[in-house]
Amino acid sequence: MSILRVALALLLLAAGCTDSQPVAPPTRPAPPPAPAPAPAPTPEPEPPTISEPPGCDGERQRAQGYLDAILPGEWDGTPFRFYLFDDFPEAAGDGYLEGQLEEVRHLADSITAQLGYPIIEVGGAIPVRENMPEGWNAPTLFGPKGCEQWRERGEILGINHTATPPNHAGGGASYATPRCAVFSYFLTDGPAMDFPTYARTAVVHEVFHLFGFKHSDDQARKESQGIFMSEQLTRGRDGDRAQYPTSDDIDALRCVFPDPDHPR
Ligand SMILES: [Zn+2]
Repeated sequence: MSILRVALALLLLAAGCTDSQPVAPPTRPAPPPAPAPAPAPTPEPEPPTISEPPGCDGERQRAQGYLDAILPGEWDGTPFRFYLFDDFPEAAGDGYLEGQLEEVRHLADSITAQLGYPIIEVGGAIPVRENMPEGWNAPTLFGPKGCEQWRERGEILGINHTATPPNHAGGGASYATPRCAVFSYFLTDGPAMDFPTYARTAVVHEVFHLFGFKHSDDQARKESQGIFMSEQLTRGRDGDRAQYPTSDDIDALRCVFPDPDHPR
């Protein structure tokens, strides 16, 4: 072997020993085996399977962005069914439930007449379901407890809370929880009678919140978070402050809940 080859071999040996740090002897037992992988996370809600018709501009996504509104993503062309739990207090007055159902029926008819297909229909007043979690109708302003669990797909539910939440103006006020398509009343003291039509038609305003609409003057939310209502639907119209949708409000529904059979 020539001197050159020996030198090259030594060089290679040296190159193979660049890691000259002594290896510490093991002082601990081997770590326990890794824990079993966590169960797969709950899958994301299904994206809308019905695409936007021509002439629309992201209304479906924007509606879903309003307080995580669930109805736009559930839309499969089957009209949503509106129910009220029939445990309203006597203070609500005779015929209150039927009056609310009439308002929703009127809304449903207006939508069908303008768009040519139904989006909502009245199911009626139904008994409170069994196995509701304790506190389901306790006063709260942050959504009824467990509401995601006690409705079925495609339903809109109206419920009455046992009392007006603290610091709330009260008097027949109401609010919507779009993430579970529930509409809440506080009728313990009876409906607000200063503006009976306003109180009666508030259900229409709240249904539009469940559809993914925000107030006409809601500047706090981003562009991607909801569709603007008209001022009339937001605050009421004329002396009696009826909260009815304009034709623009209804026309926007064509983009949020497109006709599955005849996209236009
Ligand atoms: Zn509102």
